Amino acid sequence: VLEIRDLHKAYGALEVLKGVSLRAEAGQVVSLIGSSGSGKSTLLRCANLLEDSQQGEVLFCGEGVTWKGAGHARRPADAKQVTRIRTNLSMVFQQFNLWSHMSVLQNVMEAPLTVLGEPRDVVEPRARALLDKVGIGDKCDVFPAQMSGGQQQRAAIARALCMEPKALLFDEPTSALDPELEQEVVKVIKDLATEGRTMLIVTHDMRLAGDVSDHVIFLHKGLIEEEGHPDQVFGAPKTERLKQFLSATV
Ligand code: ATP
Ligand code: MG
Repeated sequence: VLEIRDLHKAYGALEVLKGVSLRAEAGQVVSLIGSSGSGKSTLLRCANLLEDSQQGEVLFCGEGVTWKGAGHARRPADAKQVTRIRTNLSMVFQQFNLWSHMSVLQNVMEAPLTVLGEPRDVVEPRARALLDKVGIGDKCDVFPAQMSGGQQQRAAIARALCMEPKALLFDEPTSALDPELEQEVVKVIKDLATEGRTMLIVTHDMRLAGDVSDHVIFLHKGLIEEEGHPDQVFGAPKTERLKQFLSATV
């Protein structure tokens, strides 16, 4: 579904990604782990074209992003393609990013109504069903500020799903939550993995990464230092850097 080849990204002179490649096949869960500042969020943002990149390819369902310009001037050339890719790669953020002035139901319905132009009588039952699915079907008319963090994050996941994306991108979905609330969100993510959703997950939660992933990527200073099946990455790390990282995160 998603493939990235030799991606390079710099902010001015600061090289954040120095040639990163990854792929997530349909139904696969790929986790990205690594220290703060290693480039995990940047990689997710480049994948759904929220950030420009200077070199390398981003392919979505086999379709490569077309670029114009080169180096720091490189931009996606086709706005329709960007919209198509972005709506098919829904992102869930650490800080939920729900719209505070809208009810939960409105939050979930907003993008399908305005971006996809779907009719309300199609979107509303789908939105209600998704809120049920993540366990907050009774919160439709509530505003985000009236919910716990775990409930807000589950609403954000329902909102991402309501776009019916081909893949989901998660950037530290549980980092802002207290441990018990974290488990509510972990359960939803595990259910999505069981359903066969394609997901790319940035997480500090090694247990989550170990439980749901088909493939784990350890990013270090903008390069993939080690990657593989979770049993291997967590059970038999090869590089000193990964060993150090894992011993520091337990
Ligand atoms: P964390 O675990 O703390 O979220 P991360 O692996 O997600 O870290 P990134 O957010 O991708 O790291 O940042 C990688 C590097 O890029 C950092 O050095 C950061 O300061 C820098 N950076 C990120 N965004 C920008 C920006 N908009 N402008 C300039 N530098 C940035
Ligand atoms: Mg980050």
